[in-house]
Amino acid sequence: MSGQFFIQLLNPGIGLLFAVAFFLLWLNRRDRYVAYAAGAYTASAIAFLILDVGPALPYELHRIPANIGFLATGALFAAAIIRRYGLPVPWRAMAVTSAVSMAFFLWFLLGSLSIGGRILSISIGAGIIAAMVVRALWPIKKRYVIDRVLFWVAALSALNLIARPIVLMSLGGGFDSYDGFQQSVYWTTVQFTQAMVSITAAISLMVAVAIDQISELRRQVDDDKLSGLLNRRGFEAKAGSALRRYLDDDRPVALMIADLDRFKQINDSYGHAVGDAIIAAFGAHVRAIGPAEMIAGRIGGEEFALLISSAGIETARQFAEAVRIGLAPAAADRIPSTLVPTTSIGLTIGTPGANLSALMHEADQALYEAKRTGRNRVRTFTPISVRQAAGGG
Ligand code: GH3
Ligand code: MG
Ligand code: MG
Repeated sequence: MSGQFFIQLLNPGIGLLFAVAFFLLWLNRRDRYVAYAAGAYTASAIAFLILDVGPALPYELHRIPANIGFLATGALFAAAIIRRYGLPVPWRAMAVTSAVSMAFFLWFLLGSLSIGGRILSISIGAGIIAAMVVRALWPIKKRYVIDRVLFWVAALSALNLIARPIVLMSLGGGFDSYDGFQQSVYWTTVQFTQAMVSITAAISLMVAVAIDQISELRRQVDDDKLSGLLNRRGFEAKAGSALRRYLDDDRPVALMIADLDRFKQINDSYGHAVGDAIIAAFGAHVRAIGPAEMIAGRIGGEEFALLISSAGIETARQFAEAVRIGLAPAAADRIPSTLVPTTSIGLTIGTPGANLSALMHEADQALYEAKRTGRNRVRTFTPISVRQAAGGG
């Protein structure tokens, strides 16, 4: 009895520990999927507690809530994984599966008495729910090891839940009574494999939570909140590697630096909040019209850098013009109508062997020319024209 007693405490204990752990993780960032995981382990702890501590009660009274708890565990855990990928959680399909599963369970409990039938009802129901995770995750790209681990946890759970009762019962036959059931190889196997699956699943999901939280922090370190673009650090890191990639592939690149015109004056006349609104509008505008693989950052207060792979100087110029011309309309609904913000842009084309800081310097020189010749215009860096302009100025 005493050895069995401790084995019985295993699953409620594991459930409670992980429920608390996921709850604490959830407090940190309030991701919905982490809350589902906490819910899943709470349901599992309660279900095992009812089942293991319950024999004092008439058996219907604890078998029913305990098995509802098992199905809830499966559904919540499935929801946690599916939700992590931002995919729609099949609540309805899971509810229908659980209801059908419970209906079979009740039939084998109250109608045609059969412990084996009840086991199959719940286990296969939970297995189908696990299979829904497999189906949801099947088509998505599994970029990281943890993505493949989560997929296989779901696949093995589904297999375990569907195949285990069928195999064990065909080997060991049915159960005549609950006494036989509690002492059976089947129930010991369930407790053991369930503990293993439970721990594996929890640890996998916790690693996933840690990875998600770290990559979110990394994003925050590289992002500029106001413009929705990268910050200087993020831009330099991403643009540096993109530039090398483009040049290695012999793809032409263009770098432009945009600086908003007379921004100090705008702040002084209209207030800092209006200035901020223009910076935000610039970011939104650039994201809306820029190519998907553009690297764009706010590299200073009202200064932005954009790196694109462009088909040539003319295309790059057209893009820079579109950025310039589109700024005022993009900002119009955020600022007073008397204010028409403009930007000056310096543009340069990457040549083989170019590095980011050299290109930034060239774009800066072209930007200086744009400012010097009246602002609200695009200037392209060419060593000759800059030299001529400098000489002629
Ligand atoms: P120019 O046309 O020569 O670029 O004139 P400018 O006034 O834009 O140039 P300057 O570099 O002298 O001033 C930039 C101003 O941008 C100074 C600063 O008050 C403002 N600024 C910098 N960062 C922010 C910001 O985050 N929000 C707001 N509202 N203003 C900012
Ligand atoms: Mg400036
Ligand atoms: Mg400026």
